[in-house]
Amino acid sequence: MYGHIFELTRKHLESLITAKFGAQSAQTRANRIFEGLYGRGKVPEWQPQFPEQTHLGTLEYLRSGYSFELPMTVSRCETSAMDGSSKLVMTLKDGLEIETVLIPERGRLTQCLSTQVGCAQGCRFCQTGRMGLLRSLTVSEIVGQVVVAELWRRTQQGVVAEYDRATNLVFMGMGEPLDNLQSVLDAIEIFTDTQGLQFSHNKITVSTVGLLPQLDTLLSSAKTCLALSLHSPFDAERSKVMPVNVRHPVADVIALLRSRAESYGRPYMIQYTLLKNVNDTADHAHALAQLLAGLKVKINLIPLNEHEGAAFRRPDLSRLWQFRDILKEHGHVVTVRLSKGRDIAAACGQLIKSGKPAAGLSSDQPM
Ligand code: SF4
Repeated sequence: MYGHIFELTRKHLESLITAKFGAQSAQTRANRIFEGLYGRGKVPEWQPQFPEQTHLGTLEYLRSGYSFELPMTVSRCETSAMDGSSKLVMTLKDGLEIETVLIPERGRLTQCLSTQVGCAQGCRFCQTGRMGLLRSLTVSEIVGQVVVAELWRRTQQGVVAEYDRATNLVFMGMGEPLDNLQSVLDAIEIFTDTQGLQFSHNKITVSTVGLLPQLDTLLSSAKTCLALSLHSPFDAERSKVMPVNVRHPVADVIALLRSRAESYGRPYMIQYTLLKNVNDTADHAHALAQLLAGLKVKINLIPLNEHEGAAFRRPDLSRLWQFRDILKEHGHVVTVRLSKGRDIAAACGQLIKSGKPAAGLSSDQPM
C-alpha cells in the first residue's frame, strides 16, 4: 500500500492515472473518483458509490495501491447540554486519539479540526501544549475528520444532526497547523475542490501562533482566513506565555501581516486569551490597540477556560468588558468569545489527550 486514497488531491490523482493509463480521459477519470469519494459536497455513504462511468480499471488500480477504509473511527462522543456542541474522540489506525468538535451556532455548523496529536509549541495556558508532540496528522487523517464526522452526524439526533452538512471549518483543534503545513494545504485543496467537498475558502480559518516562514507561505498560497493567536502585546511577557515568541517575536509577525494586508484583502482575526492578572490590564489593552493600529483586524477576546492543573485563572467579567471598551475606543472591531462546550471540556484550551485549545470552539459574539 502506498497510503490512503484521501491523501490525494485531484491533481495528484490525475497525475497517477496519467502515468498508468496515459493522459487521455485522465481528468475525467480523476473527476469521477473524486465524485465517488466526496459526493460533490455531500459525503456519500461508505463504501463510496462510484458513478457508473468510473472506469473499473482505474478503480482496481487505485484499490491495489491505496486504502479505501475510513482512516479513523468515532470512539466516544460528548454533547454539551448547554449549547449542543459535540466533541468527538476519534481513534486513528495506530491507536492514537484526536478530537474534533462540531459547534452549532446561529445557522452555522462549524467543525474544529486537529492537525497533530499533541503539539510542540508548549503555550503555557494550553492543555494540548502540555502533552508535547506525538506526531503530525496525515492529509487523510485531516480530511477523514470531516468525512467521518459527517457520516456520524447522520446517525444522530439533536442539534448537530439538523444541519445538511458542516458549513465552516476551523483549524483550531489539537496542534499547530503551520507545523504541519503541507498536509494542511493539501487538505484545504480537497476541502475546496469543486469536485471534492466544495467548501468555499472564506469558510475555512487557519489558526497559528505565528511561525514566520510558514505563515509567509500560507499567506501567499492559500486563500483561507487567518487567525493569529497573540495573547500579549509585550515581547518578554508573550515569550513567557508562548515560547514561540522567542524565535518569532510578535513585532516581526505583525510586520509580515502588514506587508501582506493588501493581497490578503480581509481583516485578520486576532485571538487574545485573557488570563487573570497576567494580560488583562488596561495597559495591555492600550498596547495591543497600538500594536495593531492601522491594520484591518477583528480582535476576538477569549476569557480563559480554566482546566484542571491550569497555571492561569479566568479573568473577572468586569476586566473583560473594560478591555473590550478600550480596544473599541481605539477604533478596533472586537468580539467576545464565550466558549461553547465548556461543560464537555471542548472549549478553547480544554482539549487534551486528544485535543487542543486555542480557538475554535467559539461563540463569536460581536459586542
Ligand atoms: S495553543 Fe495551539 S500552538 Fe499553543 S500549545 Fe496549544 S495547540 Fe499548540
